[in-house]
Amino acid sequence: MTHPDISAKIAALMPELRGRLLANQSLAPMTWLRVGGPAQLLFTPADTEDLAYFLKNLPAEIPVMPLGLASNMIIRDGGVTGVVIRFAPRGFGQITVEEGYRIRAGAFAADRKVAMAAADAGIGGLEFLFGIPGSVGGALRMNAGTRSNTNPEIEGETRERFVEATAVTRAGEIVTLGLDDMKFVYRSSGAPADLVFTEAVFQGFARAPEEVHAINARVQEHRERDQETKVRTAGSTFKNPPGHSSWRLIRDAGGLDLRIGQAEMSRKHANFLIAHDGATAHDIEMLGEEIRSLVKAKSGVELEWEVKRIGVPA
Ligand SMILES: Cc1cc2nc3c(=O)[nH]c(=O)nc-3n(C[C@H](O)[C@H](O)[C@H](O)COP(=O)(O)OP(=O)(O)OC[C@H]3O[C@@H](n4cnc5c(N)ncnc54)[C@H](O)[C@@H]3O)c2cc1C
Repeated sequence: MTHPDISAKIAALMPELRGRLLANQSLAPMTWLRVGGPAQLLFTPADTEDLAYFLKNLPAEIPVMPLGLASNMIIRDGGVTGVVIRFAPRGFGQITVEEGYRIRAGAFAADRKVAMAAADAGIGGLEFLFGIPGSVGGALRMNAGTRSNTNPEIEGETRERFVEATAVTRAGEIVTLGLDDMKFVYRSSGAPADLVFTEAVFQGFARAPEEVHAINARVQEHRERDQETKVRTAGSTFKNPPGHSSWRLIRDAGGLDLRIGQAEMSRKHANFLIAHDGATAHDIEMLGEEIRSLVKAKSGVELEWEVKRIGVPA
């Protein structure tokens, strides 16, 4: 499906725009699941000021969706109407170490690189980011983290290390948010949904570089042992309902015997879905909905999607 090309009309409203506008750009290659249709308009801002200028001049009725590393997303087969913001490493990928065991990172910096920079600088507490394949922007929106209380050394959550974030509002205003503004909860942030994060500061603590590198390596080992790391997936499909593990509910409901088109749940980690070659976003979403029905019928528990489903069906 292609969308009407609005790129010339939008460009005409913004003579001083420095970033790049592209009409009908395929999003699938940018996502972990490698499925989904195009963005009506893909915008790559040059820097935060350029993003603010763009949002200020973009007609208010046009929807905007920021894309991180798309490791927690199903883009539907019909693509995304309106604007998708795709950051470039230049302008949004910088990572700097600051006084007092702090790290400042751009929204498009990979979580893993933040953890590596922290290790090099002798900053502990950010090791959990080493195992999360997203970006800082995605970590802020999702309150990314891991928590099972079995090994605190390799666990943590974005909110525990958060100091402040910079964001641009839909009206084009650059704002700073503190911990209270972020309203972090389990795998989400209650900060206004239209904010586009551009940068964050995290607080760690003193820990010898070799120790932090060693913990990062243990994070990796743990991932490779217990999770899918070499297939097309989006991590945990559903949030863990209070008092339950989604993977156990899915397994016990017979979810591992289900396959829709080229999509099925992982036998290694039943809450991870896998997209095989030829899978469509429709296959994947239908599988998820079928799993929710099975679990509801078997246990009475309603699973809530953790993965974001974005855009329109084919
Ligand atoms: C193999 C695998 C393992 C995973 N393990 C974990 C895990 O242990 N813990 C965990 O929490 N997650 C895990 N995930 C899920 C995912 O990596 C996280 O949710 C991550 O934080 C998403 O970041 P992203 O940059 O990919 O965001 P995306 O998937 O691109 O986006 C996710 C949401 O964040 C929003 N967003 C992205 N960037 C910005 C921005 N700059 N401003 C505003 N909103 C933005 C998007 O609009 C969307 O709503 C895993 C995923 C995979 C594939």
